[in-house]
Amino acid sequence: MADTIFGKITRGEIPTEFLYQDEHCIVIRDIQPQAPTHVLIIPRKPIPRLVDSLPEDQTLLGHLLLVAGKVADQLGVGDAFRLVINNGEGGGQTVFHLHLHILAGRDMAECQLVSDLN
Ligand code: 5GP
Repeated sequence: MADTIFGKITRGEIPTEFLYQDEHCIVIRDIQPQAPTHVLIIPRKPIPRLVDSLPEDQTLLGHLLLVAGKVADQLGVGDAFRLVINNGEGGGQTVFHLHLHILAGRDMAECQLVSDLN
């Protein structure tokens, strides 16, 4: 697959503050936040889209969800956040290296769709 900006960030080639990191993933702030809290959970493994993940990625995918909950708690939004994965161009994906968005800090219950946040 083609390298992406997130590949460079996960490998440390572009200096970026990691809010959290472990051997499987990193967490960074979104450069164009759509909510007061908007962070990205990015696996180090460069899976292009969610649909490209394989059965062998099952543990990794579960890990990303656990990290999302832990990081949301640490950021003080554990009781009210939205977790989003955009898949494919038609799904709004712009960086083709799998990532999860944590969005919080505004009334998420009012937004039926992620596009309502834009
Ligand atoms: P997608 O649209 O693919 O689901 O989400 C990509 C996200 O990555 C967007 O919200 C965009 O603002 C963010 N983004 C793109 N380039 C960079 C970057 O270089 N640094 C950071 N921190 N976020 C980025």
